[in-house]
Amino acid sequence: GLDDIRRAVSKLLKRSGPYENIVNEFIRDLQRALISADVNVRLVFNLTKRIRERALKEQPPPGLSRREWLVKLTYDELVKLFGGEYEPEVKPPYTPYVIMMVGVQGSGKTTTVGKLAKFYRGMGYRVGVVAADTYRPGAYEQLKQLADRAGAMFYGEPGSKDPVGIARRGVEELKQRGADIVIVDTAGRHGYGEEEALLDEMKRIAEAIKPDEVVLVIDAAMGQKSYDLAKRFHEATPVGSIIVTKMDGTAKGGGALSAVAATGARIKFIGTGEDIDEIEVFRPKRFVARLLGMGDLESLLEKIERLRGVEEFEKTVAEMMSGKITFRTIYKQLQQVTKLGPFRKILQMIPGISTMLESLDEAARLSEEKVKKWLTIMNSMTYEELDNPNLLEERSRVKRIAVGAGVEPSEVRELYNYYKSVKKMMRQLKKRKDLLERFARLG
Ligand code: GDP
Ligand code: MG
Repeated sequence: GLDDIRRAVSKLLKRSGPYENIVNEFIRDLQRALISADVNVRLVFNLTKRIRERALKEQPPPGLSRREWLVKLTYDELVKLFGGEYEPEVKPPYTPYVIMMVGVQGSGKTTTVGKLAKFYRGMGYRVGVVAADTYRPGAYEQLKQLADRAGAMFYGEPGSKDPVGIARRGVEELKQRGADIVIVDTAGRHGYGEEEALLDEMKRIAEAIKPDEVVLVIDAAMGQKSYDLAKRFHEATPVGSIIVTKMDGTAKGGGALSAVAATGARIKFIGTGEDIDEIEVFRPKRFVARLLGMGDLESLLEKIERLRGVEEFEKTVAEMMSGKITFRTIYKQLQQVTKLGPFRKILQMIPGISTMLESLDEAARLSEEKVKKWLTIMNSMTYEELDNPNLLEERSRVKRIAVGAGVEPSEVRELYNYYKSVKKMMRQLKKRKDLLERFARLG
């Protein structure tokens, strides 16, 4: 099942030997894990093929080991598999808001109504639930008890055989009683493979109550067989979302989630247990991070983010070494410094750059406050001055700039001196050919 993914990752991070072997073994473990979670074989194959190709062909960004890069590639692909960047919006866009539940019998509709009621109560909404399942004996009592536990209002007509009428009257009355969110539970007594009948019934009730959202409940144990149902549902209703239940009780959860995602339908929540609190908002990125072993991954992603900034900075330094240095170059460099955060720490992460650390020390010691001030000062320079810093030898210019930026002339001179020291430093660097070559390799 999906749990095996975490084991595959920790094994990967521990193993030694030729990189290609490591990749291949990891890919095999990953395939095994996904297929045992009932993810469609073709999806698994395509996904692992992409990971393998990129892992073997592409260079990791500087500062990242190849294994870390492999984990990051896997993260990206798994996020895509389970729904992509999408973050579900669980807050109703307006109130009163009517939610109608559909799904085959036993999928977990009634339980999920209780969970949702509690979830939305916790967010401060007034919630009402309607018992429109007239087929299943005990359905009325089951929902009434759940409503009590969730602190939700309840509407039902015990003994009635008119689900459409109950739904209509229930929605009406609960709205009148001040519900912000009304959730309608339905019967859905059809079995797997009876999608047509299920969706027909859904349409009949939907016509009567005009729900703002229709929620299809799918049992995770359905695995990749969820695909057809989710697809038809997604095509049948423009206001549909999906909840996958019983993620705790089956190894096939991965299959259900990926199958639903493949249809383009959206998963909003997953059910993770029988208890009324065991529901969570489904966020693919967070879900995958957890599959891979959250803690490690978070710091890895952070590192990649920072390295991206470092890469840009390296380019600027390379430009500075090869071209003319003006206030424009300084401006760009300082802007990047402010984005990078603790400067020394970042530079230390780059192999080979520590030799340069000394030369860049001056930049490293700049306070954020000072950098901001200097950016302001450069904003009140003329184009001519930006392109030709030596003009600042003229006192009258320094004075004018200082007045424009609201600072002391001494601060303008300080910036000018910084410019001169950077220029000097770059001239020295240029002479050190070995370093240049090192940079070329990094860039
Ligand atoms: P309905 O027929 O669609 O209304 O399904 P029910 O809500 O009555 O649920 C059927 C069974 O599934 C019950 O025994 C529930 O306790 C159980 N169930 C529902 N959701 C979950 C879940 O997320 N995890 C587990 N383990 N059981 C669940
Ligand atoms: Mg039910």
